[in-house]
Amino acid sequence: MPLRIRNCPHFVRENLLTFMTVVGVVSGAVLGWGLRSSGYEWSRRDVMYFQYPGELFLRMLKCLIVPLLVSSIVSAIGSLDLSLSGKVGLRAIIYYMTTTICAVMLGIALVTTIKPGNESKAYQQPNATKLVTKDTLTSDTLLDLLRNVFPENIAQATIASYRTKLVYDQNDTKSIKGQLETYKIEGDYQSGSNVLGLVFFSIVLGITLGKMGEQSRPLQDFFHSMSEAMMIITGWVIWLSPLGVFFLVTAKIMEIDSFGDLVGRLGLYFMTVLLGLFLHGFGTLSILFILATKKLPCRYIAKMGQVMATAFGTASSSATMPITIGCCDDMGLDPRITRFVIPIGATINMDGTALYEAVAAIFIAQLRKVEMSFGKIIAVSVTATAASIGAAGIPQAGLVTMVMVLDTVNLPAEDVSIILAVDWLLDRFRTTINVVCDALGAIIVASLSQGDIEKTRAVQNDRDTANSHELTELEKGDH
Ligand code: ASP
Repeated sequence: MPLRIRNCPHFVRENLLTFMTVVGVVSGAVLGWGLRSSGYEWSRRDVMYFQYPGELFLRMLKCLIVPLLVSSIVSAIGSLDLSLSGKVGLRAIIYYMTTTICAVMLGIALVTTIKPGNESKAYQQPNATKLVTKDTLTSDTLLDLLRNVFPENIAQATIASYRTKLVYDQNDTKSIKGQLETYKIEGDYQSGSNVLGLVFFSIVLGITLGKMGEQSRPLQDFFHSMSEAMMIITGWVIWLSPLGVFFLVTAKIMEIDSFGDLVGRLGLYFMTVLLGLFLHGFGTLSILFILATKKLPCRYIAKMGQVMATAFGTASSSATMPITIGCCDDMGLDPRITRFVIPIGATINMDGTALYEAVAAIFIAQLRKVEMSFGKIIAVSVTATAASIGAAGIPQAGLVTMVMVLDTVNLPAEDVSIILAVDWLLDRFRTTINVVCDALGAIIVASLSQGDIEKTRAVQNDRDTANSHELTELEKGDH
């Protein structure tokens, strides 16, 4: 029997779960498509029943996010030497910033060259869905980002995040230089974890434990075993991913309004974002990977099938995070690096989202015939970067932070409804790039930090040997 055929079942067995998850995505798409075209009109309730098993899978993954995120970051930073965690952190931040800026620049280059907005047929306002209560300014969103980094109550941060709201009250106005200020600025908490705050708190706690040394051992052991326990649960939940993504994808395809928009009015915009994501994932990231590690990324990307299929199926980088960590563990990366880089990456490093925010804002500006000066393009790149950092790792979060980018080109928040029809699908592609970028980042940072890790290990070994010598001498003295 030729070697290739004999190896085939082995390959399938080795990659059974990945294979099944990919089959789940594809067959979900086929079934969803089939059900749509069956002529039967599916009610929202029907769709909800179809989605139900997928929803349960998503809930299981989401339930792991907070304990895994906190325990991983604390135990990883706490167990690294302080100077080493500084170096690892710096490398990770440089990687996140470089890739995000490259993604935004690529998006802007593509959208200004292809000009999907100019090519599109005359734009008619769809039955606009009011997504966001407009009013808050870009400055409010940016200030909220920083407010969330410093949560006032860490327990509350696990369930809610802060958001500024403007409250209009005609009876309570203030006249400023002849102009009437009709609103008050108030703060509000909205449900959903404040992941940014949890990440920051965990980093500080990890550094503190590292500084405390032996005294912090019980707490370090606690976080370490918590993180291990979460990974074991992930190992169980992961077996449900083929079924989970199957139902999620089927229900999503059943529920969407129109495929016409995909190939019609929004087709060129859709293709521009997709091309950008593809070039970023397989071009920019691959080049950076080769430069940093002197290795080809294909072998590693091939091992990320499970991660990519789950990201596509769930459209959430936070929900995929446990699986991304597991995948990096399987690749044999140092767990201290993985547990440091992945949770932070899943929270703030979203290249796909940044690229899409830039393309979408300029696309809408083109449709609206808004002149894009160089200054405005720079403003779009800065706000798209900030919007991607601020976006939560949940489905279509980018659509919400997009308001901030639209504001820089003086477009109303309601204009996000223009791209709504195709956003569900683009979201899945950009989430896939977001998680691939995190995983490649972990490999790059691990490879760049290899020398430092070995050096610290050698110093630690010397210290241990010296300590045990001292102990033996003392014992001899006692006798
Ligand atoms: N769904 C994306 C993620 O979780 C965020 C977004 O772009 O909407 O990474």
